[in-house]
Amino acid sequence: MEKAKGLYVTIDENGNLQHTLVTDEGEEELHDTTVKDEILTLVDWDIRYYAERVSEIYDAAPSVETNDPDRYGEINMDDFDEMMRKVNKLLYDVVSSDLLTGTLTLTALEDLNLADDGTGLFIIEAKNAILDCLEQIIDFHMLLRNIVATLSERNEVDMSKLQYKNLAQASFTQIYSYGTGRKTQYFFRSLTNYYHFLLLRFLDSKPNIAWCHCCGKFFYPATKKVTLYCDRIIENGKTCKQIGPTLKRKSIAKNDTVLMAYERTYQKMYKRYERSSDSPHPLSKGLTQLGFFEWSDRATEAKRRYLNGEISEEEALKEIEVND
Ligand SMILES: [Zn+2]
Repeated sequence: MEKAKGLYVTIDENGNLQHTLVTDEGEEELHDTTVKDEILTLVDWDIRYYAERVSEIYDAAPSVETNDPDRYGEINMDDFDEMMRKVNKLLYDVVSSDLLTGTLTLTALEDLNLADDGTGLFIIEAKNAILDCLEQIIDFHMLLRNIVATLSERNEVDMSKLQYKNLAQASFTQIYSYGTGRKTQYFFRSLTNYYHFLLLRFLDSKPNIAWCHCCGKFFYPATKKVTLYCDRIIENGKTCKQIGPTLKRKSIAKNDTVLMAYERTYQKMYKRYERSSDSPHPLSKGLTQLGFFEWSDRATEAKRRYLNGEISEEEALKEIEVND
């Protein structure tokens, strides 16, 4: 029997993970990894390209005509076709750059089971279902980054955040196989469900994660001691751990103005995004996600440069603080 399209995962008690992807082209064994590494891969994923495409899909999406009395309640099918062209372009791009992400985006859309009954209502329902589905992974990515940032500051994670919207319904299929040794295999057809499953295991493992003051990425320090720099090679074969201490690093006071402003503004921007993503007017949402990325890229870079003595407190605050 042909295996269903999707991701098949087996995982041991230490978080070692084996996975196989089944696509239209056949089976693809992905390289072995761990829960922790998969989480970091997602955190490091530059999701802006994806978010920008989703925002374009929003812009192309048809709305119900309300201004023209002769066409009141009609839906512009050309707009819908244009939207679907953009959805397919996104799928094509994502599948070619990252097979796992692309395949699980595709299967999640397939599972919406949209069947055209020829009515205008179908078009509107389909539009909303597709946009919700595409947005889910961006929402999840932002939630995950927020959780990882919280952990890296050694703060408690607010577990109620995990009840957040669609995640409460996150589901996967367990497949049991019999014979030598018991093995549980999990089956996913949605990227968000897969990462949600990993996130719960990740949190269970009480991960020790830190933010590198040199390259600005997250990493897993070898010990529980406060570790400022990671082992990534960033230039001329040298790692952050080798380069970091030679930088003109500021000695940071506990209540450093810039770090406090960063933390405060981060929460403010995240809340702003959360509020609009809960709003019934989804058109504002994609834009807010992009606005958040724009801010966090700029602010994180300013924080990093400030910590490395490249810019002053005033210059950093100008980039970080948002007063509107
Ligand atoms: Zn680093």
